[in-house]
Amino acid sequence: MRVTRQRQVLLDELCKLHTHPTADELYQLARKKLPRISLGTVYRNLELMAEQGLIRKLEAGGTQKRFDGKVVHHYHVRCLNCDRLDDLPNLPIDTELECQAKQHTDFTILRHNLEFTGLCPACR
Ligand SMILES: [Zn+2]
Ligand SMILES: [Zn+2]
Repeated sequence: MRVTRQRQVLLDELCKLHTHPTADELYQLARKKLPRISLGTVYRNLELMAEQGLIRKLEAGGTQKRFDGKVVHHYHVRCLNCDRLDDLPNLPIDTELECQAKQHTDFTILRHNLEFTGLCPACR
């Protein structure tokens, strides 16, 4: 029961945000609703939910692992100065690139991640 409630709170927070928060940031938010939740619990639940495909764990650059409530495949753009990470929801996924990658490896390619980097409007 409690586990379900914890996950629900984390999922709610993650879906509300479009900032791709770190586990730390989600912990700070979850604590307002679940004062006794621990950082370890937040980590564990996030990892589990990522495994189950409910959320995405972003392996991209940056200092800390970040999480994404949007599971539909999309590209990201990251600010090199402040680490802000935005979605590029309207940029079509490059299926051509995926096809080409398949010709260069024995791996079964399932998806690819693409991260653009630059400076956000605030840092420019
Ligand atoms: Zn910035
Ligand atoms: Zn995203």
